[in-house]
Amino acid sequence: MIARVEPLTTARALRGPFDYRLGEAHGGVDVGSVLVVPFGRRRVLGVVTSVASESEVAPERLVEPLSALEADVPAPLVSLGLWVAEEYCSTPARGLALVLAPGTGTGSGRPLRARRSLLAAVTPAGCEATEGPRRLGARQQAALRALAEGPMRAAALVRASGCDHAGLRRLEERGLVRLDETAEPARRPVFAEVGARPGAHELTTAQRYALAEVTAALDAPPREREPLLLHGVTGSGKTEVYLRATEETLARGRSAIVLVPEIALTPQTAGRFIERFGDRVAVLHSALTARERYDEWARLRRGDAVVCVGPRSAVFAPLEALGLIVVDEEHDPSYKQEGDPRYDARRVAERRAAQEGAVLLAGTATPRPEAWHSLRRISLPERVDGRALPPVEVVSSLEATGALHPRTREALDAVRRREEKAIVLLNRRGWSNFLSCRTCGRAWGCPECDVTLVLHRSAGRVSCHHCGHTESVPSACPDCGSVSIARHGAGTEQLGDELEDLVHPLPVVRLDTDSAAATGVGPLLERFEREPTGVLVGTQMVAKGHDFPEVTLGVVLDADATLRFPDFRAEERTFALVCQLAGRSGRGPRGGKVIVQALEPGARPLRHAAMHDSAGFTAGELERRRALRYPPFGHLIRVVCSSAEPGPEQEAAEAVGERIEESIARATPGATVLGPAPLFRRQGRERSQLVVKTVERAAAIEAVRRAVDEVAADRVHGEANFAVDVDPQ
Ligand code: ADP
Ligand code: ZN
Ligand code: ZN
Repeated sequence: MIARVEPLTTARALRGPFDYRLGEAHGGVDVGSVLVVPFGRRRVLGVVTSVASESEVAPERLVEPLSALEADVPAPLVSLGLWVAEEYCSTPARGLALVLAPGTGTGSGRPLRARRSLLAAVTPAGCEATEGPRRLGARQQAALRALAEGPMRAAALVRASGCDHAGLRRLEERGLVRLDETAEPARRPVFAEVGARPGAHELTTAQRYALAEVTAALDAPPREREPLLLHGVTGSGKTEVYLRATEETLARGRSAIVLVPEIALTPQTAGRFIERFGDRVAVLHSALTARERYDEWARLRRGDAVVCVGPRSAVFAPLEALGLIVVDEEHDPSYKQEGDPRYDARRVAERRAAQEGAVLLAGTATPRPEAWHSLRRISLPERVDGRALPPVEVVSSLEATGALHPRTREALDAVRRREEKAIVLLNRRGWSNFLSCRTCGRAWGCPECDVTLVLHRSAGRVSCHHCGHTESVPSACPDCGSVSIARHGAGTEQLGDELEDLVHPLPVVRLDTDSAAATGVGPLLERFEREPTGVLVGTQMVAKGHDFPEVTLGVVLDADATLRFPDFRAEERTFALVCQLAGRSGRGPRGGKVIVQALEPGARPLRHAAMHDSAGFTAGELERRRALRYPPFGHLIRVVCSSAEPGPEQEAAEAVGERIEESIARATPGATVLGPAPLFRRQGRERSQLVVKTVERAAAIEAVRRAVDEVAADRVHGEANFAVDVDPQ
């Protein structure tokens, strides 16, 4: 047998697969096995992507693998990893690295033991042989005695009895022992009922209907199984539907993956799964040590855990017999990976579900236009208790005194008097987002990036939010010596201070990356939950799926700041942010309301968000995107070229652009190349970007890949680096 092995190397130029001969010792090797193979003079790790009976390589040049690791992956994950590599213009090694046991190839995981692929069992004849006087060596007898206790892995038997491999083979020839190459320990999930709890709630009619749709899909023939979108307003009980859908999946002997945005930020969802399914859940979150991460992975691989809850990477959980993939809060941008491979877990989930015959269930209150357009929709139009969604008032920031509008002050004051809770969102951290000299106009910028430095007053620093550069707060202008320095644009730190005065003596909890850096997110959310009354203030982190019933007021400041970004998703983002924050208010018996401050209160996303009108917003958004051929009616591929000095990045981008234009003219009419356009300097790198807009996705990806590979291989462009992002966010 021949194993085709893709080496796990970072070298872009080195592409397998390469053929290796499988000898006797490699009986259990199959697609998904991870092998140590000789490669030239080195040994490298590689993944078996296929097996064949013949090779084109001359037999005398074929070598055998050195060993196999115990942590292999199910075969469908190999094709998924390779698909990701193709789809996101990455390398097979990087695509495969996503699906392997944590730490494989990087050495950061637990040392993996070689896999023992032979199971030895004694035959009836062998049982008798231990009793009667047969001509057996002492070691062979010891082996038979050991096997009388039950089957053993061959390698363990060799150690226990001292009888070597050849000796075992002779016992096999005499019919005394069976050596079974496929007799691996059962890898199919074991569905014990331990820890299971019945549903916690009587389902509402809408939930029941939604669940029926999911179970119908579970029971449908794979071909007719459609991916589903659970469009449920905030507080409509989507999580309960996911829980029940998971129960139904397990009841059918299948496993489930539940993707959530960030566990630290939304611990409630993962908590509900653990509460309901106990030990059958493995949770993969970023706070795990490498060791814990490996152990959770191994529990899933063995089938000890049959539900995996985790962020985007959990889409690669090594589960077999997969029946359901839930994507909670499908609008959340964290589903897109920022480094190579820049995959989108929502798209990967769809692919995996289709490939393995699982049901995809994406849920949110604010679906992306892509999901709205392509998934079959089920809705939960009301909150579980029949309570109305909170009324939303949009007011003009221009009428604000300081950061807050008089209406906002009034509302916060009412929260203080009634001892309730409020959540205030301002998507800007720090104290002031830039400093300038009142005398000469100097602005404090980052030396590495073309952006201004943000003042963090309690830390006594001004910092760059793009590269981490920080310096101490200036006391005087280095250009003109003036000590008169103006602070512009309040951030969450300053707002927190202002709120403390306003709602005194209510506690104010600030939640942003700075406050979370000290303690982690958990303690901050717990504190806000524990306090009977108070204000939670922070960046978009406060708008995630939190479920705090005592919150009666939600406030968004500078809500249309996101609209001022030149990005086709600006409207969608703004709409989602406001709706999601609004969704945190009025979840309890006291009801609630929402105030939104904006420079343009009439902006379309705000108007729709104020009415909690996803359908109306999305319809308009789809129309606009259809006209402009933006997703889902076209695909975008972004290429960013960068270099340390100005010049090479621009030349490289032009060269890539020309090559794409050429192949597009031939192969993908209807595609356009926008740019190259300069991007602001970041982390000391000059940047230039191209955007390809196309309706023919695969052809365009191929064209971009070829163009980038060619230009990157050209010495002339040796100074430039390249990053390709398919479906940029
Ligand atoms: P969503 O994710 O749709 O915003 P959640 O799943 O957080 O909503 O549910 C909101 C609250 O309603 C939770 O506290 C949950 O326990 C509760 N809940 C869910 N389903 C029901 C039900 N059928 N009856 C009563 N309460 C429910
Ligand atoms: Zn100055
Ligand atoms: Zn910087």
